[in-house]
Amino acid sequence: MGKTIATCWDDGLVTDMPLISILDRLNIKATFALTPGRYTKTRVWNSNDQSSVGVCIPLESVFGYNHHDIWSHSSMHIRHDPNYKSDYITAKSVLEKIFNRQINGFCFPYGDINYELVAAAKSAGYTWLRAGRKSLPYLYNHVIYPKHHWRDHPDVIRQTVSRDGFAIVVGHTYELRTIDDWNNLFKWYQNISAEATTMTELCINNNW
Ligand SMILES: [Zn+2]
Repeated sequence: MGKTIATCWDDGLVTDMPLISILDRLNIKATFALTPGRYTKTRVWNSNDQSSVGVCIPLESVFGYNHHDIWSHSSMHIRHDPNYKSDYITAKSVLEKIFNRQINGFCFPYGDINYELVAAAKSAGYTWLRAGRKSLPYLYNHVIYPKHHWRDHPDVIRQTVSRDGFAIVVGHTYELRTIDDWNNLFKWYQNISAEATTMTELCINNNW
């Protein structure tokens, strides 16, 4: 079993910190897709959908992510906004300043993707791109797609690994509502601990 299951957590929420405690306890590295434009103050994660209510992490707490893999998730997590190109660029430079490292990965906000958005992310300087669902040709311009959610059973995820050679699992910590959810996530990570990796390692290991 190699390091074949990349886990990626989106949006940068205060509830990522107990997740990081779990990861650190199990000695697992994960990827966090952050939206630095939203971290200037604590705020509720905007959504019309009741299922996605979380609290954005305040800027002074973002260093909690420091020893994990950081991807950009745009600066303001906007959709259909004419300023998206500069938003992609801003996110990269702000995250690079905060974490003092190159940020090469980009997760499209809402997973939306088309040829223009891919071109904008590429010209903003991102190497690897992650979309929400497959709507362009496979690995077009290094766009990759998650196939799993953290609630999927590890054995189901391993079926994807045996077919594709890898699996990408995504989630948001606002989805963890109960102590049972957290316990289940701990056990889930325990189960995959030998296979768990980051998005960046996965991209490098596969020469994407
Ligand atoms: Zn998001």
